Amino acid sequence: MKTVFTTQEGVKMNSELDFGSTKEIHEQFQYLMDTLETMFDEEFNYYYRVTDDNFIQLAYSYGKSELQIMAQYRMRFKNLKENITFIVKNSIEASAPFSGYPKFENSSVFTEQEFDGIVQSIKDEKDAISKKSLENITPLITYLKENNLNPVPSGYSPTNWNAQCPSGRGHSIMVSTKSDEWGCGYCRRKGGIAELESWLHEK
Ligand SMILES: [Zn+2]
Repeated sequence: MKTVFTTQEGVKMNSELDFGSTKEIHEQFQYLMDTLETMFDEEFNYYYRVTDDNFIQLAYSYGKSELQIMAQYRMRFKNLKENITFIVKNSIEASAPFSGYPKFENSSVFTEQEFDGIVQSIKDEKDAISKKSLENITPLITYLKENNLNPVPSGYSPTNWNAQCPSGRGHSIMVSTKSDEWGCGYCRRKGGIAELESWLHEK
């Protein structure tokens, strides 16, 4: 019986999701594709596994590293290729802010055109969301602009923006135009315009 370690769904971006080790099951994975990633165009090798309890898993190895399960979803479509497309799209979307978009090298499932189509559809969705964000310039966004903190739509939700952290340490703060608040997870500071103003004055 091929079963999953956890029935949780999603893309593993940190230690919160644990899909288990591939040690005993790595021969159950089937080759999916090779991509070039990171600014150095390093080759990543992807594999998938379909379980008897109706999940699809996506795993990768890089260099000689052990196979790591990076995503898992319930099978949503009758057709296997649609399920593979779904999990690949979700994984690329989740990792893009950190590692950029992968380049096609080889695949047993996708043609280069199909793979590029998946990447393009993610970019198009983000562009459409970003356009919506730009229609709603709030006082906090204006304040960030005036203080050269370069607010840009995140592309994930129309009310979600990123801007430079006032600490000057080279990371981003998250901005929500829903509540017109900002937060920095690294500096552990958050607030509205008033809190931002007093932080800028401290400096
Ligand atoms: Zn910060």
